[in-house]
Amino acid sequence: MARSSNLTMCSFCGKGHSEVKKLIAGPGVYICNECIEVCSSILEKELGGGTPKGRTAAEKAGFKVPTPAAIRDKLNEFVIGQDNAKKVLAVAVYNHYQRLRQDHVKLGDEFKDVEIEKSNILLLGPTGSGKTLLARTLARILDVPFCIVDATTLTEAGYVGEDVENIILRLLQAADFDVARAERGIIYVDEIDKIGRKTENVSITRDVSGEGVQQALLKILEGTICNVPPQGGRKHPQQEYIQVNTEKILFICGGAFVGLEDLVKRRLGRNTLGFHSDVNTQELDDPNVNILERVQPEDLLHFGLIPEFIGRLPVISSLRKLSEDELVNILTEPKNALIKQYSKQLAMNGVKLRVTRDAYRALAEEAVRRGTGARALRSIFERLMLDVMFDVPSRGDIEAVTINRMVVTGARPPLIRRRRENQDAA
Ligand code: ADP
Repeated sequence: MARSSNLTMCSFCGKGHSEVKKLIAGPGVYICNECIEVCSSILEKELGGGTPKGRTAAEKAGFKVPTPAAIRDKLNEFVIGQDNAKKVLAVAVYNHYQRLRQDHVKLGDEFKDVEIEKSNILLLGPTGSGKTLLARTLARILDVPFCIVDATTLTEAGYVGEDVENIILRLLQAADFDVARAERGIIYVDEIDKIGRKTENVSITRDVSGEGVQQALLKILEGTICNVPPQGGRKHPQQEYIQVNTEKILFICGGAFVGLEDLVKRRLGRNTLGFHSDVNTQELDDPNVNILERVQPEDLLHFGLIPEFIGRLPVISSLRKLSEDELVNILTEPKNALIKQYSKQLAMNGVKLRVTRDAYRALAEEAVRRGTGARALRSIFERLMLDVMFDVPSRGDIEAVTINRMVVTGARPPLIRRRRENQDAA
């Protein structure tokens, strides 16, 4: 029976307007905030836990994971070279997401007690070789939340610095505080080599051993229920925490591991003296051989990682120093290559950007000289283009800009072609 408006009460529990916080009207019915909460918890129980976006457990478990080959092909669109790392990552990420589905796939009894274990990843390789880019691109392919954290900002609880829980907070923020989504995200922990036991970073205000940070990271890497302070910062007894299960979060740790090559070489060199040597001593000095591909857990141990920490990172892959040819490709080939980005910027002002082949080569040569991998390309190009990017928006007369080798080497400024007049001006 429809009730009159001055007698509004919840059609479910019968409480009146003044007894509840909120009463929502439907056609001839009302529901109060308390009954909505009860209904929501019933739904959550019966449908396996709705998320803020209303996904069911089946939907959550059934998200589509591309095959390793498809993951590798997609990585190829954004990342140049590093074929071995791409393959290792594609397989590891695929297996990781298979692991998340293991309880939802019907298999024979022989697999009943077989638990696929978590396989976090360790990426070794020089700075600017694409470690972060690989991790970021993976998250993009899989459409999962992703965040980057710097291991050097972390400290063991009780010291000045960031608690490891803040790592999870970053992921939660990337997932718009959708806990279920965050729980299957990817976290890239950068500079992991800087938390070795013998860190040189001596400071009186933070944990200097690095070992404490490794200890603190162990639990979240393995999988634990993490109490995350929603505001970040230090944990506080009066604060309410968001609970996040880190069991399904994929951790990719990366670092340059300067000096590790020598440790690997030393071990391999020692082995050449043995009877069962599979090492060719010439290989050790060949600059085309990526010695880091031969890394073993014992080398990481000598480097300063503790055994338990190494154990939590069972997949190890190494990236090569990028060659000059690869650096040339990086400028033009990836979907959002640097030159494409600049071309777009200028095109938005009606200006055409032309970069000559010898300019690409000169840019790559300079990047190799600087020794910071592809990272150098951006800073070199940014410097070259600064005046152009400053002038173009306020000058309507520029039709095209050309960058050639002379411009890259600093012998002359970019070549400007003016509209109509078609003439070069320095
Ligand atoms: P790091 O290995 O130090 O994590 P990054 O992945 O952060 O290096 O690389 C810095 C930038 O250089 C990236 O944003 C990207 O633009 C470029 N870059 C590095 N490596 C590659 C690569 N292999 N292919 C394409 N671009 C790359």
